[in-house]
Amino acid sequence: MKNDATEEQVQAVIKEIEKMGFRGVPMPGALRTAVCIIGNKGPVDATQLLAMEGVKEAIPVTKPYKLVSRETHPDSTVISIGDVTIGAGEPVIMAGPCAVESEEQALTIAAIVKKHGAKVFRGGAFKPRTSPYAFQGLGEKGLKILDKVRRETGLLIVTEATDSENLRAVEKYADIIQIGARNMQNYSLLRLAGQTKKPVLFKRGFAATIDEWLMAAEYIMSEGNTRIILCERGIRTFSDNTRNTLDISAIPSIKSVSHLPIIVDPSHAAGRRDYVIPLSRGAIAVGADGLLIEVHHDPAHALSDGMQSLYPHQFEQLMQEISRLKNFL
Ligand code: PEP
Ligand code: MN
Repeated sequence: MKNDATEEQVQAVIKEIEKMGFRGVPMPGALRTAVCIIGNKGPVDATQLLAMEGVKEAIPVTKPYKLVSRETHPDSTVISIGDVTIGAGEPVIMAGPCAVESEEQALTIAAIVKKHGAKVFRGGAFKPRTSPYAFQGLGEKGLKILDKVRRETGLLIVTEATDSENLRAVEKYADIIQIGARNMQNYSLLRLAGQTKKPVLFKRGFAATIDEWLMAAEYIMSEGNTRIILCERGIRTFSDNTRNTLDISAIPSIKSVSHLPIIVDPSHAAGRRDYVIPLSRGAIAVGADGLLIEVHHDPAHALSDGMQSLYPHQFEQLMQEISRLKNFL
């Protein structure tokens, strides 16, 4: 639409698109609104639309995904949750244990990460573990502990939903709903996450291409939830020196084709704590909008992912290095 198009003109265009048998989704930008046509199987004849008042141009979208595409929405999306803003330039650090193990553990780690500048507390209550015999998380009890962490520290909470049932509970307690790597192509779960009112932290699958990841994000957005934060967490390659291979090129790749913010999880990429700080530096240097970091006050006794969890003093060092690095960017 033109810069000065009115709301009535936008609505008229949406009605016309519906008459053509498709859906019209308004995508407000800083300067102008785009109306995205979805549901068409091939090229659309835009002659009718171009003749309408307020319409500037018709741009065929060349990507298979639309709503998450930068072609449709040239401005980068900025997501505000409480007083935290993701995608506005300042990297947002989310940190905490892999899993919530007890109230004492969560509150201890939350105090540490808050002290050093984290804005969001992470911790799984429903853990998708490779082995069915491994610690599966505290479930709803873990969510209640996270709620207490929010009340006592003011940190926002991000925690994972692993199925449609626990999604409801996670939506109730969390500020950000995490969808993990293993569920990246669980399309029914993605549709349900798209129907919630909470932002979604959407991790890349182990073997997903950038296009597959963005098509999956499209499932969430096509249900109406526009607040999606992508998270690169390492992919499977032939390289076995680390748990996964951090695809650092995913950050500029995503930025060039999508308007969504993207953060990096170096903990699950590396699988070992001594690589977390260098990978974090790399992530910030290539333009990541934030980091997701596993931290534990007693990693040797952590119930999951102790090997990759930073000691408190290492997290402090990471935060200092990130803040110095920002001066060079
Ligand atoms: C996690 O962040 O707790 C997690 C399980 O990560 P991923 O889905 O990336 O394996
Ligand atoms: Mn973990």
